[in-house]
Amino acid sequence: MQAFDYQLRPRILFGAGFVARLGQLACELGCLRALVVSDPGVVKAGLYSLGEKSLADVGIHVQGFHDLSENPTNLHVERGVQAAREFRPDLLVGLGGGSSMDCAKGINFLYSCGGKIQDYWGVGKATSPMLPMIAIPTTAGTGSETQSFALISDSETHVKMACGDPRAACKIAILDPMLTLTQPAMVTALTGIDALTHALETFVCNKRTPISECYSREAWQLLSQGFSEVLQTPGNFEARGRMQLGACFAGMAIEASMLGSAHALANPLTAVLGVPHGQAVGLMMPHAIRFNSSVVEDRYVELVKLMPDWDTSPPKSLASEAIIAVFANWMKQAGLATTLESLPQWPDPAMSDPDKTLSLLRELASSASKQWTATFNPRPTSESDMLSMYQLALRRG
Ligand SMILES: [Zn+2]
Repeated sequence: MQAFDYQLRPRILFGAGFVARLGQLACELGCLRALVVSDPGVVKAGLYSLGEKSLADVGIHVQGFHDLSENPTNLHVERGVQAAREFRPDLLVGLGGGSSMDCAKGINFLYSCGGKIQDYWGVGKATSPMLPMIAIPTTAGTGSETQSFALISDSETHVKMACGDPRAACKIAILDPMLTLTQPAMVTALTGIDALTHALETFVCNKRTPISECYSREAWQLLSQGFSEVLQTPGNFEARGRMQLGACFAGMAIEASMLGSAHALANPLTAVLGVPHGQAVGLMMPHAIRFNSSVVEDRYVELVKLMPDWDTSPPKSLASEAIIAVFANWMKQAGLATTLESLPQWPDPAMSDPDKTLSLLRELASSASKQWTATFNPRPTSESDMLSMYQLALRRG
C-alpha cells in the first residue's frame, strides 16, 4: 500500500438552502469584508444575490467581482487583484462553478503573496499566509471547493497552469444542491462527465492511496447513480444532491492523489481548439481506459461491481469494456461528441487532408505528453501512445 500524509480539509456543509448560512460562517471566521467572485452567468441566475444577502444580513461589507469567464486567465486574476487592492477584503468567497472558485484562489495567491500567477505554477509556491476562503459550488463538476489547486490559463500560450498550495485550500465549502437546479442542461452534462472522469482516473492513478480510494469509490457510486437521472429529470433534487456530493468526493480524491492520461489528452484539445473541458476529457476517457486496462483491469472490476445495476453475475466482457460501454452511453445521453471529427471545433480543412490531420494530431500529442498529469497515469504513456489514442479517437472505428 502506498504511504501517505493526508490533512482533512475543508469544513464541508451539505444541505438544501445552506447558502443562507454564508454570513454566519463568515462571522465565525471573524471576517468583516468579503470579496465575492462569481461569473456573470451566476449573477444572472440570481445565485450571487443569495450569497450577497446572507453576508449583508450579518453586517459584512460585500464587493462582487464578475469580470471572468470559463477557463479564467492570468488577466482575469490580475483584474480581480486590482479590485481586491481597492476593496481590501479579509475574506474571499468563490460562488459559482470551477472558474469562479479557481479565479478566487488565483486572486488570493497574488493579493496575499504578490507577483504574478505564473510564479505559483506548481506546488507549494505561496510565500505568506493567505486570506481565508469560502467556496460555494453552483455546478457539480470540478470539485475545486475541496482542492488546494487553482487552474489558471496563460492568456498568451493558453497553457493551463495548476497552481497549488495547502494555504490556498478553502476553509469552508458550502454544498447546497438547490444552487445546481438552475444549471443549463449542457453545463449539467459537461460538469457531470468531468466529475465521472475524476472518479475513474483517481481510482487507478499511480498516486492513489487508501484514503483517495475511499473518495474515488464513493464518488463513482454517487455519480454513476445520479448522472442519467439528472439528464432525464433535471428537477430531481435527490439526484442533484448525489451529483454534487459525488463531484465533491471526486475533488477530494484528486486532492489526495492525482489524475492521468485522459486529462493530459484533454488539455491540448481545450488549449489548441477551444473544446470545453468536460467534452474533451469525456471524449478521450474511453481510450485511456482501454490503454490502461492491461495494467489495472482488476481496478476496473472493482468499479463495475459498484455500479447501480450490477447484478452480481460477472460481466460478459472485460470490466474495462463494460465501463467504456456505459461511459459511451452517458456521452450519448449528454449529447456530447464521441469522436474528434464530430467536434464542432474540429477544423474542416484538416479533415479533408490526411497530412494536415496527422500534423494536427502530432501537435496535440506533443503537448499532451508534456502535461504534468500524464506522469500519474498507471501505465507510462509516451508521445507515440498519445498519438495512437488521438488516432483511435478521430473517427468511429
Ligand atoms: Zn477534469
